[in-house]
Amino acid sequence: MTSYNDLWLIGIAWRLDRLRWAPTALLTGCVRSHGLCMAEFPADEPAWLDQQLTDRELAAAMCQGCPVTDECLELELRSGGADTGGVWGGLSADDRRELHAHWLCRGERAERGVAR
Ligand code: SF4
Repeated sequence: MTSYNDLWLIGIAWRLDRLRWAPTALLTGCVRSHGLCMAEFPADEPAWLDQQLTDRELAAAMCQGCPVTDECLELELRSGGADTGGVWGGLSADDRRELHAHWLCRGERAERGVAR
Protein backbone atom coordinates (compact mmCIF):
# COMPACT_ATOMS: atom_id res chain seq x y z
CA MET A 1 0.00 0.00 0.00
CA THR A 2 1.28 3.45 -0.88
CA SER A 3 1.81 5.61 2.19
CA TYR A 4 0.86 9.26 2.52
CA ASN A 5 4.58 10.08 2.52
CA ASP A 6 5.04 8.25 -0.79
CA LEU A 7 2.10 10.09 -2.34
CA TRP A 8 3.56 13.40 -1.19
CA LEU A 9 6.94 12.57 -2.73
CA ILE A 10 5.38 11.24 -5.95
CA GLY A 11 3.53 14.55 -6.26
CA ILE A 12 6.80 16.45 -5.94
CA ALA A 13 8.45 14.19 -8.55
CA TRP A 14 5.59 14.94 -10.96
CA ARG A 15 5.93 18.65 -10.29
CA LEU A 16 9.61 18.52 -11.19
CA ASP A 17 8.77 17.13 -14.63
CA ARG A 18 8.40 20.70 -15.87
CA LEU A 19 12.17 21.04 -15.41
CA ARG A 20 12.91 17.77 -17.21
CA TRP A 21 14.60 19.38 -20.21
CA ALA A 22 16.18 22.33 -18.44
CA PRO A 23 19.96 22.11 -18.87
CA THR A 24 21.84 21.63 -15.60
CA ALA A 25 23.90 24.78 -16.25
CA LEU A 26 20.68 26.80 -16.52
CA LEU A 27 19.40 25.38 -13.22
CA THR A 28 22.73 26.13 -11.56
CA GLY A 29 22.68 29.73 -12.75
CA CYS A 30 19.08 30.16 -11.66
CA VAL A 31 19.74 28.83 -8.14
CA ARG A 32 22.94 30.84 -7.76
CA SER A 33 21.24 34.04 -8.89
CA HIS A 34 17.93 33.74 -7.08
CA GLY A 35 18.32 31.25 -4.21
CA LEU A 36 17.56 32.78 -0.84
CA CYS A 37 20.54 31.10 0.80
CA MET A 38 22.85 32.44 -1.90
CA ALA A 39 22.22 36.00 -0.75
CA GLU A 40 24.01 37.60 2.16
CA PHE A 41 22.87 36.47 5.57
CA PRO A 42 20.32 38.87 7.06
CA ALA A 43 21.51 41.02 9.96
CA ASP A 44 18.96 39.43 12.31
CA GLU A 45 19.17 35.73 13.09
CA PRO A 46 16.19 33.76 11.81
CA ALA A 47 13.57 32.99 14.48
CA TRP A 48 13.90 29.23 13.93
CA LEU A 49 17.61 29.17 14.80
CA ASP A 50 17.01 28.51 18.51
CA GLN A 51 14.16 26.06 18.05
CA GLN A 52 14.35 22.29 18.32
CA LEU A 53 13.26 21.29 14.82
CA THR A 54 13.18 17.99 13.01
CA ASP A 55 15.27 17.81 9.84
CA ARG A 56 12.10 18.17 7.79
CA GLU A 57 10.99 21.23 9.76
CA LEU A 58 14.45 22.78 9.54
CA ALA A 59 14.54 22.33 5.77
CA ALA A 60 11.08 23.88 5.40
CA ALA A 61 12.08 26.83 7.61
CA MET A 62 15.42 27.44 5.88
CA CYS A 63 13.97 27.42 2.39
CA GLN A 64 10.66 29.13 3.13
CA GLY A 65 9.98 31.82 0.56
CA CYS A 66 12.79 30.80 -1.78
CA PRO A 67 11.65 31.43 -5.37
CA VAL A 68 13.73 28.63 -6.86
CA THR A 69 12.93 25.69 -4.59
CA ASP A 70 12.01 23.35 -7.46
CA GLU A 71 15.07 24.31 -9.50
CA CYS A 72 17.26 23.68 -6.45
CA LEU A 73 15.63 20.33 -5.81
CA GLU A 74 15.94 19.21 -9.42
CA LEU A 75 19.58 20.27 -9.47
CA GLU A 76 20.39 18.38 -6.27
CA LEU A 77 18.60 15.24 -7.44
CA ARG A 78 20.72 15.34 -10.61
CA SER A 79 24.02 16.06 -8.87
CA GLY A 80 23.69 14.47 -5.43
CA GLY A 81 21.48 11.59 -6.45
CA ALA A 82 20.76 8.97 -3.81
CA ASP A 83 23.76 10.20 -1.79
CA THR A 84 22.32 13.66 -1.31
CA GLY A 85 22.98 15.34 2.03
CA GLY A 86 22.15 18.57 3.86
CA VAL A 87 19.24 20.87 3.09
CA TRP A 88 18.36 21.57 -0.53
CA GLY A 89 15.09 22.43 -2.21
CA GLY A 90 13.17 22.73 1.03
CA LEU A 91 13.57 19.05 1.84
CA SER A 92 15.67 17.12 4.32
CA ALA A 93 18.28 14.66 3.09
CA ASP A 94 16.10 11.69 4.14
CA ASP A 95 13.13 13.02 2.18
CA ARG A 96 15.29 13.72 -0.88
CA ARG A 97 16.78 10.23 -0.75
CA GLU A 98 13.25 8.80 -0.81
CA LEU A 99 12.22 11.29 -3.48
CA HIS A 100 15.16 10.25 -5.64
CA ALA A 101 13.65 6.79 -6.26
CA HIS A 102 10.35 8.35 -7.40
CA TRP A 103 12.19 10.97 -9.48
CA LEU A 104 14.14 8.25 -11.30
CA CYS A 105 10.85 6.61 -12.26
CA ARG A 106 9.76 9.80 -14.03
CA GLY A 107 12.01 9.05 -16.99
CA GLU A 108 14.52 11.02 -19.00
CA ARG A 109 16.17 14.25 -18.01
CA ALA A 110 18.26 16.72 -19.99
CA GLU A 111 21.23 15.45 -17.99
CA ARG A 112 21.10 13.12 -15.06
CA GLY A 113 24.49 13.78 -13.55
CA VAL A 114 26.40 10.86 -12.12
CA ALA A 115 24.33 7.68 -11.76
CA ARG A 116 24.22 6.60 -8.10
S1 SF4 B 1 15.66 26.01 -1.97
FE1 SF4 B 1 16.75 26.31 -0.03
S2 SF4 B 1 18.80 25.46 -0.38
FE2 SF4 B 1 17.87 25.82 -2.38
S3 SF4 B 1 18.52 27.86 -3.04
FE3 SF4 B 1 16.55 28.06 -2.01
S4 SF4 B 1 17.04 28.54 0.12
FE4 SF4 B 1 18.89 27.69 -0.83
